[in-house]
Amino acid sequence: MHHMTLAEIARGLADKKFSSEELTKALLARIAQLDPQLNSFISLTEELALSQAKAADARRANGESGALLGAPIAHKDLFCTQGIRTSCGSKMLDNFKAPYDATVVAKLAAAGAVTLGKTNMDEFAMGSANESSYYGAVKNPWNLEHVPGGSSGGSAAAVAARLLPAATATDTGGSIRQPAAFTNLTGLKPTYGRVSRWGMIAYASSLDQGGPLARTAEDCAILLQGMAGFDPNDSTSIDEPVPDYSASLDGSLQGLRIGVPKEYFGAGLDPRIAELIHNSVKELEKLGAVIKEISLPNMQHAIPAYYVIAPAEASSNLSRFDGVRFGYRCENPQNLIDLYKRSRGEGFGAEVQRRIMVGAYALSAGYYDAYYLKAQKIRRLVKNDFMAAFNEVDIILGPTTPNPAWKLGAKNSDPVAEYLEDVYTITANLAGLPGLSMPAGFVDGLPVGVQLLAPYFQEGRLLNVAHQYQLNSDWHTRTPTGF
Ligand code: GLN
Repeated sequence: MHHMTLAEIARGLADKKFSSEELTKALLARIAQLDPQLNSFISLTEELALSQAKAADARRANGESGALLGAPIAHKDLFCTQGIRTSCGSKMLDNFKAPYDATVVAKLAAAGAVTLGKTNMDEFAMGSANESSYYGAVKNPWNLEHVPGGSSGGSAAAVAARLLPAATATDTGGSIRQPAAFTNLTGLKPTYGRVSRWGMIAYASSLDQGGPLARTAEDCAILLQGMAGFDPNDSTSIDEPVPDYSASLDGSLQGLRIGVPKEYFGAGLDPRIAELIHNSVKELEKLGAVIKEISLPNMQHAIPAYYVIAPAEASSNLSRFDGVRFGYRCENPQNLIDLYKRSRGEGFGAEVQRRIMVGAYALSAGYYDAYYLKAQKIRRLVKNDFMAAFNEVDIILGPTTPNPAWKLGAKNSDPVAEYLEDVYTITANLAGLPGLSMPAGFVDGLPVGVQLLAPYFQEGRLLNVAHQYQLNSDWHTRTPTGF
């Protein structure tokens, strides 16, 4: 049962081959058996899952249908879930039970999805390896000595290991696409504003966006359909109609103009990944796409700009965790300042503290113009590069990451080395564009992802290209040994 995709599950449920309750019980048993090797869940929600599964079965018996009705999923542990721990991977929120459901959680529940649990993540979504979680590192099912990517590493490892078919995730600088690449999944970061951020604990509000992680583009279409849409509770949510993403999968790629940026293939890219990316380009050419070399000249400035803007926003967003209103409070505070200092000092991990300090510094009087304002100007240049490129091409294609998943601990002593791994993903967040990563082959037994970027609100185009590629390749069907 655990090998089925969301689409196969939907057909099986519709044909009454099994019930959602049976499927939910089977997957919960599989999680109990296999997750100790991976550490992909922070909390399991067995009781909720079984009651949601029974309710979904009853709705089907009453004639209701829908691709998500009775489908088991999990949520990254930064989506607020009412009455259930929502930890954000931090000691700070280890005792926090959200008083309400995030919009994404509520929408998926209304569509009949079954929540199996909350997945592990880098603390406050800061990281590219899922090693900064208070609940311990997540392991990559393709090689348990390697990282699964981050910050949505728990969602990725769980789906890749067939513990469940799909999960929600978030992407501030690559945290959906990079773990998708590292674990052989398909992951989609939607256009900024496409999916509501209400109830999604904020890291960097102008960059954060929720989206689906699954094995196929077809499944990403199903999950995105349940997540996307205008939300009056999120002032940056955009009031655009949501297209039928599953209907967009079948279009022909004849004449599709694919831009390949020359800057993507410079020093720093593993040549074996470059070769796999060129192979995927050739496959798409066979399907009718037309390839064009393009240039994104300001790409080299994106990492320094992102690592000013994201920490700046984080330093502001995380000021609410003060030991007074939410989460962790230190023992025996001597006075108010002592309460703040020790609650934050003891509640936040090292990477989160580093980002708060960098962000507060970049925003401080005297440095604001030199760092924050400069970074915002670079952000505009990065966006302008994309706008110019999309005048010439329909899709931009390149590697998702410069290297495959590294060994656990390999970059712990050098945070900047880890930041550099985000080089291909962060530009889409700076510009607010949608991006998708899909499986494109293996290097030393570790998965490699190819990234597709599209103009605003063209998620359907990304899913269409990925689906057509997946109809003509089998990388996405490979399963890690032991799972
Ligand atoms: N690795 C990036 C960071 O640490 C992106 C993380 C994310 O997308 N949440 O900020």
